[in-house]
Amino acid sequence: MSRKPAAPVQSGNHTKKLAELTCEKIEMRIIEMDWPVGKVIGSEAELLAEYGVSRAAFREAIRLLEHHNVAYMRRGPGGGLVVAEPDPDAMAHAAAVYLRYRKVNPPDLFEARTALELAAVRSAAENIDEAGIVKLRGALAHESEFLGGESDATIHDFHVVVAELSGNPALHLFVNVLTQLSAARFLGTTAMYDKQAARSVSSAKEVEEVHHAHEVIAEAIVAGDTSLAQHRMLKHLNALAAAAAGE
Ligand SMILES: [Zn+2]
Repeated sequence: MSRKPAAPVQSGNHTKKLAELTCEKIEMRIIEMDWPVGKVIGSEAELLAEYGVSRAAFREAIRLLEHHNVAYMRRGPGGGLVVAEPDPDAMAHAAAVYLRYRKVNPPDLFEARTALELAAVRSAAENIDEAGIVKLRGALAHESEFLGGESDATIHDFHVVVAELSGNPALHLFVNVLTQLSAARFLGTTAMYDKQAARSVSSAKEVEEVHHAHEVIAEAIVAGDTSLAQHRMLKHLNALAAAAAGE
């Protein structure tokens, strides 16, 4: 029979491990519940008793869940741990920060974009419906506000809309990451291609070219012409890659 120490002293490391484990258990539970956004899983006291960890480890687990947009603690009456709706933009931002830290260069970025976006545009053309057409038109209408002037990074949100229309959440997420990154939205001043990438969407002539490229891609998607949509997307991405390379 083992003897329990009179005053167990939890090291910071031990608490951290328990917190990560508890966070994982709660994540698994939310997945098994089919991710019921807004539902209260339990009060802090109930969950503390259920998971049998120290208050410090539990609080750290909650901090991790909140950081990952999985769940958050709501105080007051009717409060408790509430299932959250994960935020794809937060995820995309975190991934963009990481890729910037790894000093991803424009050719690598465009290689990945091309593979993902050709898959996305094909699925979009295969699956296009009335609601999808409305979304595409909305994205093009947003861009046309920039015509004749300078644009901001949102001019390439069209790519994210196309990826969304693929109906593939993985393509949607990663195209969002790479579009945000190559649109220079998250590039710091230290990134050597920051100014080049920003310039590539700034002049009135380029805005017009980008808008036209998006229009003809949308046309091919709406027509359900997969190979034409892919051909036009590839041509557009190659033009962007050339601009990012400063040609
Ligand atoms: Zn574009």
